[in-house]
Amino acid sequence: MTPPQKTFTIVPGLNMGLFSPLELEKIVAVINKYRVPTTKITSAQRLALLGMDEEDQQRLMAEIKPLTRPVVTNGLTYVQACPGAQWCKFGVADALALGAKIEKLVLPTPMPSKVKIGISGCRMSCTEPFVRDVGIFATKKGWTLVFGGNGGGNPRLGDIVAEGLNDDQVVELTRKCLTFYQQNAKYKSRTARFMERVGIEALKKAVLPV
Ligand code: SF4
Repeated sequence: MTPPQKTFTIVPGLNMGLFSPLELEKIVAVINKYRVPTTKITSAQRLALLGMDEEDQQRLMAEIKPLTRPVVTNGLTYVQACPGAQWCKFGVADALALGAKIEKLVLPTPMPSKVKIGISGCRMSCTEPFVRDVGIFATKKGWTLVFGGNGGGNPRLGDIVAEGLNDDQVVELTRKCLTFYQQNAKYKSRTARFMERVGIEALKKAVLPV
């Protein structure tokens, strides 16, 4: 089968993958109106609309924009969060609320490369925080922050930077880690390669209180 020649992804997020039944109905109405051939929820918890022709693409984007979330402009590629304590019986902390705070972080830009953040409401780690640039997961003692993980073809497990953090502390530590990365990494170097070069002790020295 010949793949469709013109496809695109709707970049705005869906509140870390969440939407109400009413929001979903409205989104589906737009998708049906433009006869989008295929839709997909991406690993970044976004909505991909595939196989559009170019003319409809512009009109559809204008119509769907109010139903989705604005593009994150602080240099982050995406923030994904699991249902957490709000919706999952295993959750010990509110991953969605923390994700919303981290999406609003003011960070230096541009980042050297993509920055993907995964937040999990318990140590089962459904958003795979150990293979995200910034991974955060909750235990009964608080949040653990992991930095420098990567999946893909050259995977690396992130390093634990700190444990037992409250919401404000983990948000601030995320800001500090990413600022250190932004100021010291080479262009196009992902956090995994950066951490292999500088090491966890250098990061800790830069971002943790003495
Ligand atoms: S990481 Fe824990 S809280 Fe989040 S979805 Fe998985 S089991 Fe539930």
